[in-house]
Amino acid sequence: MRINIAIDGPSGAGKSSLAKAVAKELGLIHVDTGAMYRTVGLYMLENGIDPKDPEAVSAVLNDVKVELEFQDGVQHIYLNGRCVDSLIRSNEASMYASYVSAIQAVRDFLLNTQRQMAEKQDVIMDGRDIGTVILPNAALKIFLVANDEARARRRYKELTEKGESVTFEEVLDLMKKRDEKDKGRKIAPAVPADDAVIFDNTEYDLQQCVDYIISLAKERFSI
Ligand code: C5P
Repeated sequence: MRINIAIDGPSGAGKSSLAKAVAKELGLIHVDTGAMYRTVGLYMLENGIDPKDPEAVSAVLNDVKVELEFQDGVQHIYLNGRCVDSLIRSNEASMYASYVSAIQAVRDFLLNTQRQMAEKQDVIMDGRDIGTVILPNAALKIFLVANDEARARRRYKELTEKGESVTFEEVLDLMKKRDEKDKGRKIAPAVPADDAVIFDNTEYDLQQCVDYIISLAKERFSI
C-alpha cells in the first residue's frame, strides 16, 4: 500500500518542519506544495503581473515551469531552470502566493504534478487542500494548528534568521491576513477534511509532534 500522508493547516503551524522530520524517520519524500504556489507567485512578482488578476495570471502560466528536485529527501524548487529556494520565502512572495493560489487555473496547473508525485512514491505532502482536494483517499490526514502568537513567532524567527528586516507585529498582521484569505476563499479553502486528525501543537516540541504522527502512521499503514 502506497504511503500517502496529508498535512494541512495555516501558515506557521509547523507543517513543513514536522513533515520534513517525519519523512526522514519513515524514509518518505516530503513535498511542500506551498513552495509551488510561492514559485508561481514569484514569477508574477518578477514580471510585474497583478497576482489578483485571474486573466493576466492565466495568460502567462504556459511560460511558467515549476520543477522539484529531491536531494537526500530535501526538496529544491526551480522556476524556469533557476533554483528559487530562498527567493520564494520573502514576505512579498508569501502574499503573491496567497493571491495566485485563489485562482482556479493556477490550482489546476499544479494539481496533476502533485497527484502524480503521490502516485509514484511514498510521500508526506503539506499544504492547504491536500486532504480535501489533492489526496482525498490518503489514509492519514493531519490538520495542524497552533495559536496565532506561536505561529507568528516561528515565522518571525525564520524570516529574521534569513536576514529579512521585519517586525513581529508585521509578521503577525500579514499572517492573519493571509490565513483569512486562505480559509475564506471559494476554491480549495484551507479547512480540515472530515476525516482529518486535528492536532493543536502549540504546547508540544517538534520531537513530540514527530512521535505522535509516526505512531498514527504505524497504525494506519501497518508499518
Ligand atoms: O505553506 P506556505 O505558507 O508556503 O504557502 C504559501 C501560500 O500558498 C499559502 O498562503 C496558500 O495561499 C497557498 N497554498 C495553497 N494550497 C496549498 C499550499 C499553499 O493555496 N496546497
